Amino acid sequence: MQLTILGCGGSLGIPMIGCECAVCTSSDPRNQRTRTAALLRSATTTILIDSGPDVRYQMLRAQVKQLDAVVITHHHQDHIGGVDDLRPFCWHTPLPVYTQAATIERLRSQYAYAFDPGDSPSTRPKLELHAIDTQPFSVGDITLTPLPIWHGDWDIRGFRCGACAYITDVSSIPESTYALLHDLDTLILGALRYTQPHPMHMLVDEAVAVVERIGPRRAYFVHMAHDLDYAATNAALPEHIQLSYDGLTLECA
Ligand SMILES: [Zn+2]
Ligand SMILES: [Zn+2]
Ligand SMILES: [Zn+2]
Repeated sequence: MQLTILGCGGSLGIPMIGCECAVCTSSDPRNQRTRTAALLRSATTTILIDSGPDVRYQMLRAQVKQLDAVVITHHHQDHIGGVDDLRPFCWHTPLPVYTQAATIERLRSQYAYAFDPGDSPSTRPKLELHAIDTQPFSVGDITLTPLPIWHGDWDIRGFRCGACAYITDVSSIPESTYALLHDLDTLILGALRYTQPHPMHMLVDEAVAVVERIGPRRAYFVHMAHDLDYAATNAALPEHIQLSYDGLTLECA
């Protein structure tokens, strides 16, 4: 299976509009971060994780022509703001969406037209909503185990697939979820910036401590703000823990 980091930026993306900091004006393409999302691909199955405002560009850039399902971690706009742009994936057949009940409720209200049969079919994404909680579920030959995590006071989900785990927006991991993170090869984990604690996200040092506790063979950070320069931050991090970049593709067991 392959995991592609479609985007690894925080909610504003990088460059941030109006910012002239060293990272936002950097010529290193690895400092240009679209909103955090990922793609899981086996030989027969393609799953999108999160559909934020950059999803159209991300699908074009990764040359994704077909999706078997979308999995949504939570309903902040940087993760659901691009749902209308999923229309090309569901002209004829509804696109299965797997997410928690609270996110389903938000999708139904925010995208009410998508569920209104009176609207012209081409003007609405046809979504088939599946509520998930903690039980593993399968799409084609890919099985995902939901991972309960804290994002501030939001009880949201990361996902484990084989020896790979994907946890984006996160402030802390419950003890019961650590028990689901044994024997990992690859961990994708949210880390916002170095300083200024954030109520809903981990800082780099906190994320490094979480990686060291879980003990995967390698870890990559996502959901990064413009405080983190790709090359300088990676030089300061342990070798097995690195910032990701848009387009990074990993072979996962
Ligand atoms: Zn986010
Ligand atoms: Zn900046
Ligand atoms: Zn969030």
